[in-house]
Amino acid sequence: MTPDIPGCASPERSMADASDSLHHLLGLEGLSAAVLTRLLDRAEQYLGVGVGDVPKRTELQGKVVVNLFYEPSTRTRMSFALAARRLGADVLDFSPAGSSTAKGESFIDTAKNIEAMGVDVMVVRHSSPGAPHILTRHLRPHVHVINAGDGAHEHPTQALLDLFTIRRRRGCIAGLTVGLIGDIAHSRVARSNIHALKALGAHVIVCGPTTLIPPQVAEWGVEIAHNLDAILPRCDVLNLLRIQFERQRGGLFPSIREYRLLFGMDGARMRKAKPDVLLLAPGPINRGVEITPEVADGPNSAILDQVTYGLAVRMAVLVEVCRSATACSVPDSVKTTHQR
Ligand code: ASP
Repeated sequence: MTPDIPGCASPERSMADASDSLHHLLGLEGLSAAVLTRLLDRAEQYLGVGVGDVPKRTELQGKVVVNLFYEPSTRTRMSFALAARRLGADVLDFSPAGSSTAKGESFIDTAKNIEAMGVDVMVVRHSSPGAPHILTRHLRPHVHVINAGDGAHEHPTQALLDLFTIRRRRGCIAGLTVGLIGDIAHSRVARSNIHALKALGAHVIVCGPTTLIPPQVAEWGVEIAHNLDAILPRCDVLNLLRIQFERQRGGLFPSIREYRLLFGMDGARMRKAKPDVLLLAPGPINRGVEITPEVADGPNSAILDQVTYGLAVRMAVLVEVCRSATACSVPDSVKTTHQR
């Protein structure tokens, strides 16, 4: 559990004993504060497991975890593999390069063939929103699917590790003001963060150029801002999102130089922010675009802690789904957007 900090309202902690289990982790949309808190509490138990003298665990002994990644990844992929191994699982790693995808095999056929080898958990990253959800309808019911990023839709374990970092550094999440800065339109990290931060009682401000804030944000119950300097003094946490050049059609802002001038976090902006503002970034960072090197490597940055905590969070998620016996229901919004 997190330390008690006086004056820090944290309703999320009081509901940690909720028992509704997760068969898959497809997104954070619709998850209750109780379930989110249970995952964060569980992650506390796995901090440092398998490092130095701390022995590995056996919760996933006899299980097979597959990383099925159709998009590039460094942190998420390695973190899931290491997390699964530190829990005693066997780990398989799939990437389309060098596989039968090059011979035209479909995503579903590939997944079903790997499943036929006797798999318990599929960790899926794909450029199509809803791809992990679709997989749940094709795999045998005992197989657990974890979304490791589906297009611009959700990236639940990234948001969970962001929450975990905030809770460890600040003691709570409720009552904090969290700024999500930059490319909201193409960021699955932003979506998952918004669902979870709101469920846990944070005030969320999304801030970026108008072209990078989608119109439906107005329905998400967040504050919308376009002037970073104006909101800086109110933010307890800033999550500096990467410009998703690979998902943009181009021309969404005049130039990288202009973006950096208006939304880049640098030394001058740090002086306008709260002295203890916590800086997060999902990685990879574009040094000199969203954040300057001295700020990325400075005392307010928790960027490398996020990576460390990500292991514990992914261990918690793997254990959570493997302990569940029930089938999950896909949220309506996902069904309507991605499963029709
Ligand atoms: N690694 C994160 C993701 O896969 C963030 C990013 O790529 O900007 O969404």
